[in-house]
Amino acid sequence: MQGDELAAAVIAGDRRALARAITRVESARADHRAEAVALVAAARAAGRQALRIGLSGTPGVGKSTFIESFGMMLVEQGLRVAVLAVDPSSARSGGSILGDKTRMERLSREPAAFIRPSPSQAQMGGVARRTREAVALCEAAGFDVVLVETVGVGQSETVVAEICDLFILLLAPAGGDELQGVKRGIMEMADMILVNKADGDLKPAALRTRADYAGALHLLRRRPQDPEGFPKAVCVSAVEQSGMAEAWADMQALAVWRKREGHWSARRAHQARHWFAEEVRQGLLAVLEREPAKGSMAALGREVEAGHLSPEAAAARMLGLLGRA
Ligand code: GDP
Repeated sequence: MQGDELAAAVIAGDRRALARAITRVESARADHRAEAVALVAAARAAGRQALRIGLSGTPGVGKSTFIESFGMMLVEQGLRVAVLAVDPSSARSGGSILGDKTRMERLSREPAAFIRPSPSQAQMGGVARRTREAVALCEAAGFDVVLVETVGVGQSETVVAEICDLFILLLAPAGGDELQGVKRGIMEMADMILVNKADGDLKPAALRTRADYAGALHLLRRRPQDPEGFPKAVCVSAVEQSGMAEAWADMQALAVWRKREGHWSARRAHQARHWFAEEVRQGLLAVLEREPAKGSMAALGREVEAGHLSPEAAAARMLGLLGRA
């Protein structure tokens, strides 16, 4: 299928075409890139927007269970839901395979849902681009909500926050009364904290954890893009499916407020600019791998290490090579 034909099929809501289009943007081959860029541009021209929700949490907090439960609720409300994953490690260990369909059994059988597991790609730049383009393709295909799942390991969260409209942190109840070592940077990115597993014996701990985080969020910040009451920490149970409707109502309220106040479009505009600069940066790094610069980064690095060249002089020489590439 030609690129524009494929884009048209994606826009028409053909799920197989969507899967194929995502495979195209995932291709690492340089000669596929121009085609992928054209494909995404054609898809974006449809002018559709989904609510993009980033969801992060360490392995075991219940991301798959939550997405299954939350996604089913949205589907039952008549919404179309896409699930994508950003896996920062190609090593899929620890039992946490992101976007694994077998762990979202009901949702994966729903015609109104589309689940795409993460490709095994180690390089963060590639993963970020692929995810951004896959999100754009899902939007063009008419999905109302695009959930982007990631594990809590720093860099991937920053990427997801720069792709999504809302960033949600999923936590499990803590044993003690200390915060669970969640990095300040991640707390600062979170629009909502959902404390999962607020059921059975874990409920009291979940309530305590929620209160701790609500306090921490309150102390930490009030950003211009937060209405009164946000960022928020609430309890949910993915297993009992409790708190789901309330969490969704909060997310919608936040989205509506941000749209009305102009923060929504400002955030997307800022993100577009960020990714433009990032693409240029990645492109420049790729140039360094080509002649006549090839190998020079490593060679000059050794010279700097040996004390034969200053870092600045070596960098100037490197950039000089770039000019001729
Ligand atoms: P992920 O690694 O973050 O995707 O976590 P999973 O969704 O695989 O869940 C990890 C474990 O936590 C599983 O044994 C789930 O059954 C359990 N779990 C998930 N959500 C809940 C919940 O709401 N309540 C309780 N009690 N257990 C849960």
